Amino acid sequence: MYERNGYGWRGGSAVVRPSPVAASAVIQSIRRLGPVLRQDLVRDTHVSTATVARTVSSLLAAGLIRERPDLVPSGVAGRPSLPLEIDGRRHAVLGLHVGKHVLTTALASIDGRVLVTGRSSGGPDGTRSGAAPDPVQVISRALLRCASRFPRHRVLTIGLVGPWGDVPWDPADLRDRVQRSTDLPVAVTDHVAALAAADLLSRPGRTDGSTLYLYARDTMGFVLVRDGRLPEDGKAGRLTHLPTGGDVPCGCGEVGCLGVSAGDTPLAVRAHRAGVVDRPAIAAVVAAARGGDPAALALLRERARILGRATGVLRDMLHPDRIVVAGQAFTGFPAVYEDVLAAFRASTTSASGQTPVDLHGLAHSPTAVQAVAATSCALRLLYADPLAVVGETRALSA
Ligand SMILES: [Zn+2]
Repeated sequence: MYERNGYGWRGGSAVVRPSPVAASAVIQSIRRLGPVLRQDLVRDTHVSTATVARTVSSLLAAGLIRERPDLVPSGVAGRPSLPLEIDGRRHAVLGLHVGKHVLTTALASIDGRVLVTGRSSGGPDGTRSGAAPDPVQVISRALLRCASRFPRHRVLTIGLVGPWGDVPWDPADLRDRVQRSTDLPVAVTDHVAALAAADLLSRPGRTDGSTLYLYARDTMGFVLVRDGRLPEDGKAGRLTHLPTGGDVPCGCGEVGCLGVSAGDTPLAVRAHRAGVVDRPAIAAVVAAARGGDPAALALLRERARILGRATGVLRDMLHPDRIVVAGQAFTGFPAVYEDVLAAFRASTTSASGQTPVDLHGLAHSPTAVQAVAATSCALRLLYADPLAVVGETRALSA
């Protein structure tokens, strides 16, 4: 049986196994440091040597980690301790990223490598020509495709991420429906929080101080991470309706909200109406700007300045030690990134003497951002209680 655990699911079982806390600490340490020796896990996790040994045995038996005898330096005398790493060959997780206008599915091995992604056009608001896709069906089809393409990988958990609050789907209801239809543990989190989690996993070493993660595509949001820890509730701040002082009408009734002023789709629609491009697609606007079209370039530069100013406002409100920006509105046309930086630096009003904050990109590929966010949400659920998840899904598939 799964017990409800906040936004996620946690298996319970009568089988004696290492505590979820120890298993979670050890597997996360292996993910971050691997290939890693047992004695280094003891140091990193502050879990006792005996408990680390027992936990490692259980994780090995479950096929979640593997030993790498080939990585032992030659000439080591006696019976050397074997380096450990996550075993990505047998288990996988599935993620669904809910965008305003597109659903992205992604399969990742449990070491975090994205194996395959799929996209279906149309988001919660529907497509231009029809109804919204059914996310439960999208996931069922993705699971079937994954099973035929990657028959050796068993899917252990599912992660659903989206800009909840900016889309009309209720995340708790969606989680329950997906859980019922797949019989797999399902976690739901805001996609900016998931993105931050993925980024933290990808960065070597620990991240001290506070990091502001900022996302912009068609929705805008942020999450503030302190000392590498995400907010407990996994929720993010919404910026889609942050006033920018602009005059673009927004669906909320106001004008100049950040979403309509700087979002990919509204920008493409404006470019199309102005005759800059022949279809309302952001790819067409970027292609025109690359081809030297001054009107397309002007639109993208203006959007970059709006994003830079909004980033400056957040910096002054939250005083983070560093800022990581993500999402195609920031990264889709790198030529105007200097405009983001210039507007950010010009708008920030912090008292002198404070450490200047630079903008950083994600530790992973910016183009895979939706797939990485969705699968990292599923991975977090697995890593929170890895042995229970494997035990439960094995029992279900037996
Ligand atoms: Zn608005």
